[in-house]
Amino acid sequence: MHEWALAEAVLSAAIEEAQKQKIKRLTKITIGIGELQQIEQDIFNFALEEIIKSQNDFLKKVKFSIKNEKSTLKCNSCNYIWSFKDVVKKLNEDDAESIHFIPEVAFVHTRCPKCNSLDFEINSGRGVSIISIEGEK
Ligand SMILES: [Zn+2]
Repeated sequence: MHEWALAEAVLSAAIEEAQKQKIKRLTKITIGIGELQQIEQDIFNFALEEIIKSQNDFLKKVKFSIKNEKSTLKCNSCNYIWSFKDVVKKLNEDDAESIHFIPEVAFVHTRCPKCNSLDFEINSGRGVSIISIEGEK
């Protein structure tokens, strides 16, 4: 069910942003989904479409564009940034598969490619975000 909660959160954030920009009717919301965000994209799309059906004119005509965002990791020791794809490439198939379900597995198998530190964090590409909104003013 968390796809529905995410869809609701995205829509309410989009509405808030639209109000700031004095948009009278939203026509397009571009949403970014991070590589490390665990989400069923079909359910998420479905949730978005279902939620706007019950909304007023402000949201009814909105179209969604969903972009997948690459995830990057950042070393806390040397500040080096590398892509999550590179991490997955180096893993064997079983580990790569489990990372798809539990991104935290990446932390067990990963070191900073530059300084070998185990102290790193997810720098980008986790979560769902609004990239842009468009509408009629
Ligand atoms: Zn490092």
